[in-house]
Order: sequence, then structure tokens, then C-alpha cells
Amino acid sequence: MNVAIIGGGWAGIAAAVTLAGKADVTLFEAGRTLGGRARKITRVNTRGAALDNGQHILLGAYRETLALMRTIGAAPETRLRRLPLRIQDASGFRLALPRLPHPFNLLFGFLGARNTGMGEKLATARWMRALKARRFAVPPEADSSVQEWLDAAGQNGVLRRHLWEPLCLAALNTPAERASARVFARVLQESLGNSAPGATDLLLPRVSLSDLLPEPARYWLEQRGATIRMRERVRALRPLDGRWQVASERGLEKTFDKLILAVAPWHLPPLLAALPRADFPAPPQAAEPIVTLYLDYPPRRAALPYPLLALSGKHGGWLVEREQGALAIALSGRGAWEELTDEALATALHNDIARYFPRLAALPPYQVIREKRATFSCRPRLPRCPQETPWPGLFIAGDHNLPDYPATLESAVRSGQNSARSCLDARANPTPTPPT
Ligand SMILES: Cc1cc2nc3c(=O)[nH]c(=O)nc-3n(C[C@H](O)[C@H](O)[C@H](O)COP(=O)(O)OP(=O)(O)OC[C@H]3O[C@@H](n4cnc5c(N)ncnc54)[C@H](O)[C@@H]3O)c2cc1C
Repeated sequence: MNVAIIGGGWAGIAAAVTLAGKADVTLFEAGRTLGGRARKITRVNTRGAALDNGQHILLGAYRETLALMRTIGAAPETRLRRLPLRIQDASGFRLALPRLPHPFNLLFGFLGARNTGMGEKLATARWMRALKARRFAVPPEADSSVQEWLDAAGQNGVLRRHLWEPLCLAALNTPAERASARVFARVLQESLGNSAPGATDLLLPRVSLSDLLPEPARYWLEQRGATIRMRERVRALRPLDGRWQVASERGLEKTFDKLILAVAPWHLPPLLAALPRADFPAPPQAAEPIVTLYLDYPPRRAALPYPLLALSGKHGGWLVEREQGALAIALSGRGAWEELTDEALATALHNDIARYFPRLAALPPYQVIREKRATFSCRPRLPRCPQETPWPGLFIAGDHNLPDYPATLESAVRSGQNSARSCLDARANPTPTPPT
């Protein structure tokens, strides 16, 4: 069986690794590098260190991503820095989970939270217990915004402003007023509600995003006979005698038994448009941006007390220490920052950082990377397109594709693996006639 995978992001890579050795794999990637929305870019900082298209944070709960890294020989233990979860900001708020078995890590973490009263902590502990008893489920018909959900739960205090809302924005890349409560509850289940050791840990890349997975995966795949066609954008797909003809912009035409479309949701409609009409939900099209500001401070002047801090200025955001003095700030979702020039944004965020480090002088060298369509906007009751399609032999993968999950590396990886498995299962079944 030969399979074409279209899209070399983390979903396409996960699909290719799952299929390697079981099928003849060809992976088409439109760009110059693998990795899609999680990759190294060509810019470097003043120390010559590679920059990524955006700061990425993984969680200990990213089970499949970590397993995939191990499979291809990219040991997570050396490529990722593991830290116990701590949410801390300049207002004095701090919640740190101790290294204790679940649920004692949560219990002591919440009880020890700073800048919040005992009444709120106990109310939150009761709420968490009730969520756990319901397995963090929010029924589809009851899905609402995270804002409404927190209102209904009486979560209106310090923890809401300094924990739940920033976490929602970071995990769903969608602010609480329009984010899905059902998806956020799922995120809480897989992180705070997860009893696997280390599930709540934060994992910060020590290497560029390309070196974390895409480049080692490329080597591993090529060693196993996969063909990787870089800078080869697929422009058309055509069902042909129970198989699929794939045409690329560079003139390649080849026929495959199966196809996996592992592209971003906004790149799917043009590929599906020319197929025989069928009843298939459109992928989510509304997107949320992320901007990343890289700042190069003198190392000793900006040594963070913890490598991840929440900024509590006008624009919010997370401050990440890539190495001493080399800081990255990520702002998620739509906001007033979009109207600012790069210089105005860098100045505003530098001033926010100066609340932690009053000795910092002038704005250091900086670079701004704006991803206008970083992820889909994770709204309540958002229809998703399933991985199985009405077109026989054609499967969908990508971070938009797993019901009830936000757009993350882990969703992309799981979805890629699922599509590859469906592809292998479909091999056993006779191919029905495509819709006409
Ligand atoms: C700035 C930023 C910060 C983020 N931070 C985090 C984070 O902290 N933690 C986290 O877990 N997630 C984070 N994410 C989300 C995460 O990066 C994405 O969810 C994930 O990378 C999506 O992978 P994917 O494979 O589904 O899609 P993509 O990465 O979009 O891959 C699709 C690939 O398909 C290619 N393609 C498209 N059309 C064609 C075509 N016609 N022919 C051939 N190739 C094509 C594209 O070039 C691309 O390489 C962040 C995203 C961004 C942008």
C-alpha cells in the first residue's frame, strides 16, 4: 500500500512515523522545513541562537508526543527541561505544585497559593472535587464560554484572574469570554486531574523546535525508506479508479492507495473543493493569533526566579527564559497588541518585565514574530471535521481534528497517529465507490 501524507507539521510527521515499515510513505511539505507551526525559523538572536516561529511549552501529560520523540530517538529527557508547575506573576500571586503524588500535589499546591484567601481556596478545592467526580465532563449541549462556566461555578476571585483565565488563554489560545468550557474542562482533566506521575509538569524545549522532533523524524523516516518531498505544495487531488491522483505545483503527478491530509484547517477547503460533493463538515476557519517577542538582555540582569512567569501588565502574556537573559514573551489570542507596531509592543512588554527587574535599563535588541493564524479559535460547540471522510481512502489529520481538544502539539500528534491507524485498518476492507 502506498500512502501520501500532505503536510509535514507534527500531525503529518506522527502519521508518517506510525505508517513507516507498514506502508510505502510519501510526505509532501509545501515549506522549506518540516514542523509547520512548530519549527525553527531562519532568524537568530544576537548570541547566534536559533529562533522558533513561536515559543512552545509542552506538558508532562503530552503522552503521545513524548512517546513519539522516544520512538525516533529524540530523547525528551535531554531535549526538554522538566519543571514542576508553578504559576507566578508580578502581582505576588503564586501557585506551585509540590512534587507529591496526585492528588496531594494539588491539595498542597492550592492550599499554599499566595495572595488568595482560605475561603476561596476551599471553594476551589470543592469545585475541583466536583469536577473530578463528573470526570470533568461538560455535555455537548451544555457547552458555554469558559467565562459563563466560571461564573456558574462561583469562581470569581483571585484564582480566576490569575490562574483559570490565563490558563484558558494559554491552553486554548482563545480568551475565556469566547473559549469552549467543554474543551477547557478536558484540558483540566488531562493536566490537573491527571494522576500519572509528572503529568502537570511543564516541559520547556532546550533545543530549537525543529531539533525537538521534525529533523530527527526526517532522518528516522528516510532511514526507513519514506520519501519526503520538501517545497512540494499539493494543488489538486483526484479520485481515480479507487485510488488517488495527487498533483503538485511543481508538476509531479502520482497515484496513491490512500491519502492523509495533515494541513492546517484553513488549507483544507481548497484541497477538498474539487472532490465529488459529499456531506462533510467544514473545518474550523476562525483563527486566533500569537505574537512572540524575543528579547536579548544582558544575562545577569534578567535571571528569572522561575523560567516561566505570567506577565500581569495590560497585554498579559507569558515570559519564558530560553537561556539566561534570552527571554521570549508570548501573547495569545486577539488583543490590543495587534494594533501596536513592533517597537511599541516591544517597549510596552519591556516595561512590564521591568516590574520584575527594576534594574533593567533600555530596551535590548528584540525580534517580533507574528503568527496571524496560530490556531483555530476554540469556541463552544465548534463543529470539527472527523478523520474518516466520505471519500474512500482519504483521511484528515491535524490539531483541529480531535473532538474536544484544543490546538496543541499533542492534539496534532494524536490525530496524525489515529489517521494512520485508520488508513491501515482501511487496507483490510474493500474500497467502496467514491461519491459522485
Ligand atoms: C506561535 C505558536 C505558539 C504555539 N504554542 C504552543 C504551545 O505552547 N504548546 C502547544 O502544544 N501548541 C502550541 N501551538 C500550537 C501547535 O504549534 C499546533 O497545534 C501544531 O503545530 C499544529 O500541527 P499540525 O501538524 O496539525 O499543523 P501545521 O503545523 O499547520 O502543519 C501543516 C503543514 O502542512 C503544510 N501544507 C499546507 N498545505 C499544503 C499543501 N497543499 N501541500 C503540501 N503541504 C501543505 C504546511 O506548510 C504545514 O507545514 C502554538 C502554535 C503557534 C503558531
